[in-house]
Amino acid sequence: MLRDRLGRELKDIRISVTDRCNFRCFFCMPADGEVTFLHRKDLLTYEEIARVVRVLTPLGVRKARITGGEPLMRAHIENLIGMLAPVDGLRDIALTTNGYRLEEKVELLKTAGLNRLTVSLITLKPDRFKRMVGRNLSLEKVIRGIKSAKSMGLEPLKINTVVVRGANDDEILDIAEFCRENDLILRFIEFMDVGTLNGWNLDKVVPAREILSTLAKRYSFEELERKDSSETALRFRFRDTGQEFGIIASVTQPFCRGCSRLRLSADGKLFTCLFANDGFDVKELLRSGATDEELLSYIKDIWTEREDRYSELRFELRKDRGKRVEMFRVGG
Ligand code: SAM
Ligand code: SF4
Ligand code: SF4
Repeated sequence: MLRDRLGRELKDIRISVTDRCNFRCFFCMPADGEVTFLHRKDLLTYEEIARVVRVLTPLGVRKARITGGEPLMRAHIENLIGMLAPVDGLRDIALTTNGYRLEEKVELLKTAGLNRLTVSLITLKPDRFKRMVGRNLSLEKVIRGIKSAKSMGLEPLKINTVVVRGANDDEILDIAEFCRENDLILRFIEFMDVGTLNGWNLDKVVPAREILSTLAKRYSFEELERKDSSETALRFRFRDTGQEFGIIASVTQPFCRGCSRLRLSADGKLFTCLFANDGFDVKELLRSGATDEELLSYIKDIWTEREDRYSELRFELRKDRGKRVEMFRVGG
């Protein structure tokens, strides 16, 4: 078992497979933000990603989440899932998507061995959707993607909803109802100050307690116990249906103490925190002929030296931070 300086075990890897996206969500990669995308040669290949994961499992990693950017934009993403599925020790392969290409991909993903899926859904209003994602795209296609994943039996199916004041906070009840009707596990997410492009400020954050008091106007629910210390969401159960929902309150109730997650960016850098300035270049090592033992020792050192807890220190650290990695690069 590998522990960092604050005693946290390494359990999960988040893999960003591309920094590209067909959406330009204003809270992540705004349409007017200046973004230079990676060249193909700079992306880790699926073989390289699978090798990193094979090195990570003896160190304790049990879960891998594929994300981005938009992971379904990378060609044949199901091939990566197929390569991860047989990795010894890896128990869970999950993927987070904006859902736009889900309908055409879901069967391939499932057949390749995907265990869990999360789809982001930020509004149920078609015109608002176009504004929020910064593109003239159809919300209906995302909804169809969610329904086809459900009908393929990809369970549990989770929905991520970032809540931003003045943008979609008036839809908390409607999105909750949609998830109840369609038997989806909803996670509301507080708007975070990731990257430097999204114009974050504290006034735009709808705190977990406010989300809960809005939900309490219509529903009765109770809080559930944490399954384990690395759980990021506060979890609740609707009393009438027994369905679960959660809130990821990383701004108002940070959970750094249980953070067991390493992140691998699309260009092969390891990040020990979502809010890091820079990562550790594992691609360089992979492409210069390092052995598995060398890779393992490099990653071991990175984790054992780790002491990140940005969300706990947010208000002290924010003022001295200029450079900061974007979420679509490091993987949300
Ligand atoms: N493109 C995929 C998607 O949107 O689901 C995967 C990558 S996205 C960066 C991963 C998750 O991060 C999504 O659920 C997204 O809503 C969330 N996210 C993006 N920007 C955020 C922000 N500023 N604060 C909180 N969550 C954010
Ligand atoms: Fe793309 Fe996901 Fe970021 Fe939206 S949140 S811009 S879908 S990567
Ligand atoms: Fe983990 Fe960094 Fe988020 Fe804290 S701020 S929970 S250390 S990723």
